[in-house]
This record gives sequence, structure tokens and C-alpha cells, in this order.
Amino acid sequence: MRARAVVAGGAGFIGYTFVSRLLREGFDVVIVDNLATGTRRNINDLLQENHCEFVEHDICQPLAISGPVDYLVNLACPASPVDFSRIPVEIMRTCSEGTYNLLELALHKRAGFLHASTSEIYGDPEIHPQHEDYTGNVNIAGPRAVYDEGKRYAETLIHTYHREFDVPVHIARIFNTYGPRMRPDDGRVVSNFCIQALSGEPLTLYGDGQQTRSFCYVDDLVEGLFRVMLSEFSGPFNIGNIEEISMEELAEKVIELSGSASEIEHRPLLHPDDPKRRRPALDRIKETLGYEPTTDLTTGLTRTLDWFRQVVAEQ
Ligand code: NAD
Ligand code: UDP
Repeated sequence: MRARAVVAGGAGFIGYTFVSRLLREGFDVVIVDNLATGTRRNINDLLQENHCEFVEHDICQPLAISGPVDYLVNLACPASPVDFSRIPVEIMRTCSEGTYNLLELALHKRAGFLHASTSEIYGDPEIHPQHEDYTGNVNIAGPRAVYDEGKRYAETLIHTYHREFDVPVHIARIFNTYGPRMRPDDGRVVSNFCIQALSGEPLTLYGDGQQTRSFCYVDDLVEGLFRVMLSEFSGPFNIGNIEEISMEELAEKVIELSGSASEIEHRPLLHPDDPKRRRPALDRIKETLGYEPTTDLTTGLTRTLDWFRQVVAEQ
């Protein structure tokens, strides 16, 4: 008998690669998405398969799915800092009411619950690298908090359903992820730099460019998510890559790998709370689940640039 997973947010960037993986592993999949930041086009090829169906639905509304469900996966949430000011209330509701509705469904179906949390719950971190026991430094009143505090609330709600109702839960804290099928206009740094470099436009470097991130290629992330989902552990587990780079170095790398003649243009920071450094401590997932990412930044960016080359050609 095939296992069946409901994937909320399955029409998004990470959702596409995660659902593809589930289908390859022999799962039946129901994608639930309101297409707020995902697209039908993203999943058209997946829906050609007999084992994948799509339900257009906003998870802020209660959800009914007929038949058995073994796993409920919550990837639904706009994740770009640009969206934090564009649709702040929708983000808070998706994290709170949306997660509640999915947990109720998991309880009703006796399904395991995998949740996409984020490194943003650490805020602008005072310790480096960030390990899972660090409680974070989020500015509650800042514009990023709609996402950060929403995700923190969701984690607490998930632990509560585990404690009170014995729902098997699994929390993954995802660090910056990149790769094919990123939304070209979502405003995140990798998509911006790739599109700008390939179009011969200046790369928009925010602030002094010395802030760092550690980027994880999407296939590596999905491998981690899959292991966390199948494990007996609640986590939380950081998933990411420890290769840390400043945004200035990233801009130079994208220019070099794309062979672009673009220059770098300094712009003000989008949000004053922009985290200054970010790198995951991966000891927990490595020791517990034997997980380590395998794609270095040069390889991953080369594949991502190949993808964006097609996108630019179609524009
Ligand atoms: P994405 O925007 O591409 O995907 C999110 C998907 O959720 C979209 O298809 C969107 O339409 C859907 N969605 C949003 N609100 C919804 C709602 N109320 N009801 C139903 N569907 C809804 O983003 P992504 O980068 O693929 O992120 C997926 C998950 O991973 C998110 O939960 C995000 O917070 C988390 N995450 C991503 C990153 C990253 O670097 N990409 C980092 C940390 C955490
Ligand atoms: N950034 C940048 N230029 C851009 C977009 C983003 O310099 O065109 C910076 C941003 O200020 C942040 C980093 O790149 O310091 C990562 O931004 P992103 O929005 O990708 O993700 P975040 O980690 O901030 O959620």
C-alpha cells in the first residue's frame, strides 16, 4: 500500500522539489496551495502523474481531505523579506491559523506532521553559528517579526499538539535555500543577483554587503527534510549548509560564474533588522540522522544560473 502525504505549499519553490522527491519514493501526494506565491505552472508536470493531485485552498480555512493521510507537510508560507511588508497579516495568519488547521487535520487523520520552520526564528543572532537550543533575538516590533514570530508561534503550537494529543511531529529549521524554481521576482538575494547578472543590470547590494548567509542547495535541503519526516524525532533540526559567505562576495561570485559585465550597486538595507551573520550548527542532524549537505556553492549556483538563463530567455 502506497503512503499518502498532503503537502501544503507544494506549489512553491521548495514544494516542487519536495513533492517530486515524494513521488519518486512512491508516495501518493495531495498538494494544497492557495497560489499566493506559488504557481500552477510550477507543478503542471507533477500533476501529469497519476499519483499527484492538487487542491486550491487557503490553509487559514479549515481543511477536509477524504481518505487516509500518513503525513501532513506544512511548507505553506510566503518566505521572502519583500513579502513581510507586502502581505504581513496574511503571513501571520498562515503561520498561526494555517498551522492550527493543519494540526487539527493531522490529529483527525492520525498523521505525522512535518513543519518548515526557519533560521529566522533566531532573529539577528547574538551567537554564531546558531544551534537549536539558542532562543534567538527577534525584534518583536520590527517588520521581519510577522514572519519570525509567526514561525515561533507555529513551533510552540506544534510542540503543544505533540504533548497534549500525541501527534507525531517533526520540525525542520530551514536556512537560506536556493536553486531552480525560485520565483524570479521574489526579491531574495540569489534570485535578484542571478537575474540581474544575466540581464546585464547592476547587482543590488544592500547595506555594506558584509552581512553573511550560508546557502543550501534545494536538493540537499529536501534530502534533510525527507529524513526528518521519516525519523522518530521531533527536533527541531537545523537544515542548511555551513559554507558562509558575505553578500559582497556572493555578488562577485555570481558575476564571475555567469560571465556577466554587470557592476555592483549599493542600496540601503530593506529592513534595519537584517541579520548580520547566519550559519547553521548542523551537529544535531548530523549525529542523529547522519545528514550532511553535499552540494558546494559553486556547483549549486552554476545549476541555478542555468535555470535562470531559461527564465530570462522566456521573458
Ligand atoms: P514559496 O513562497 O515558494 O512557497 C510557499 C508556498 O506556500 C507557495 O506555493 C504559496 O502559494 C503557498 N502558500 C502561502 N500561503 C498559503 C496559505 N495561506 N494557504 C495555502 N498555501 C499558501 O517559498 P519557499 O521558499 O518554497 O518556502 C517554503 C517553506 O519553507 C515556507 O514555509 C518557508 O517559510 C520555509 N523556509 C524557506 C526558506 C528559503 O530559503 N526558501 C528558508 C527558511 C524557511
Ligand atoms: N540582499 C541584497 N540584495 C538583494 C537582496 C537581498 O544585498 O537584492 C541581502 C539582504 O539585505 C540580506 C541578504 O541579502 O542581507 C539575504 O537576503 P534574502 O532576502 O535573500 O534572505 P534573508 O536571509 O534576509 O531572509
